[in-house]
Amino acid sequence: MDAQAHAARALWNMLHELCLMCGRGRLPTMAYLDAEVRWARKHVEWMGVLPAQAAQQVLNDYRRAWLNCWNGTAGMPRFKARYRTALVVDVPQGRDLQVKRVHRRWGMVNIPKVGRVRFRWTKDLPGVTKDGPEGRITGARLVKDALGWHIVFRVEAVVEAATARAWADSHVGVDRGVRVPLVLSDGTVRDHAPWLTATEARRLVEYERRAARQRAVRKSGTRTSRRLEITYAKIRELRAIAKRRALDWQHKTTTALADSFALVSVEDLRVSNMVRSAKGSIGAPGRNVAQKSGLNRAIAGEAWGRTVDLLAYKLADRGGLLVKVSPANTSQRCSECGFLHPNNRESQSVFVCKNPECGWSGNADHNAGRNIDEAGLALAPPQDLWWLDTKVALSRRSKVSNPPARARRESPWGEKVNASGGAKTTPKTPIVIVGSPGTGPAWSTPWP
Ligand SMILES: [Zn+2]
Repeated sequence: MDAQAHAARALWNMLHELCLMCGRGRLPTMAYLDAEVRWARKHVEWMGVLPAQAAQQVLNDYRRAWLNCWNGTAGMPRFKARYRTALVVDVPQGRDLQVKRVHRRWGMVNIPKVGRVRFRWTKDLPGVTKDGPEGRITGARLVKDALGWHIVFRVEAVVEAATARAWADSHVGVDRGVRVPLVLSDGTVRDHAPWLTATEARRLVEYERRAARQRAVRKSGTRTSRRLEITYAKIRELRAIAKRRALDWQHKTTTALADSFALVSVEDLRVSNMVRSAKGSIGAPGRNVAQKSGLNRAIAGEAWGRTVDLLAYKLADRGGLLVKVSPANTSQRCSECGFLHPNNRESQSVFVCKNPECGWSGNADHNAGRNIDEAGLALAPPQDLWWLDTKVALSRRSKVSNPPARARRESPWGEKVNASGGAKTTPKTPIVIVGSPGTGPAWSTPWP
């Protein structure tokens, strides 16, 4: 399997080399590249291990990479380095796979040139078992990470069109908490256990120390020792476990949120980065100070952006809406009376309104969540119109908008390139409304 993946990677690099050789602004034709792929598979022995279909898919992916570049959605295609690149092999045709469920927990699948292998059955696949979902498998992709090879099926499923949901009684604001990952405006939190158990965390520290020791005795200019490689592999494995658990929790949490709420408001990530420095001020200490170093920070860092992305598409699938609001003042404004003062936030976690007529107190993150909810509601379009409006706006935008300057270039391979990722149909982007609540009347309470 590894040999196939490395052959696929080498093939990509060969294609890229051929394209770069043509010089600036010129690319070889697809027919020429196709002929080169065939030649390489026939004459280079170790490239021959890659099945023809998978080789074609590499060429397709490479073509797609250039199209994305001209669309302005991605940078130039690059060489794939041996150690930094994820190992990937495609099985583009579903009928080659012959998926069969053999056990409650196991399935069997045909992998070209490898044979029949079993895989862990985690989800019902369409068209395999009697009572499984409708649809069919159209292909698969094999991906390797520190824990081994995984198979991802591409399926064609029957999905009901989403219908708009009323959010009058079904809205929530979500804030990133100091101690818990998500604090909701309804006062509940979404928490998780540490990604690694105590034993696993101890082992990780141990391996990291061992790696440091082994690095120290290594003479510069010599190869990484076999022992050090093994230690690195162990560290990678534990990190992969933590990452997988984090992703699992995120998927489950966002699915539950999208199921139970029609309108979810969150803070706009880009803006919050500017507003909230790590240190913060005395009145509103920064939020990232308390976070622990290393692994936790790394996972938390990518978690918020992904949480928002997951929520956006899951809500869109269910006829809901995600609203991103500016995080300005969400931690200093009283969510009960709208009184805005830096002293309102007494500490990292305690919020007490300094308005003598109000005096509301509570958890600071809960208060921020309520503010975010309110701002999101104010930004959301009128309930009875929004579904129609956004659909019209979306389809209109995809026709009218001018592609960015970079995207105007015509593809030499004859495809029409347009701004919406090269797709001819309406882009299936989740509807996300971004805005700042600073303009609303509820937010303009002056400082005393
Ligand atoms: Zn108040």
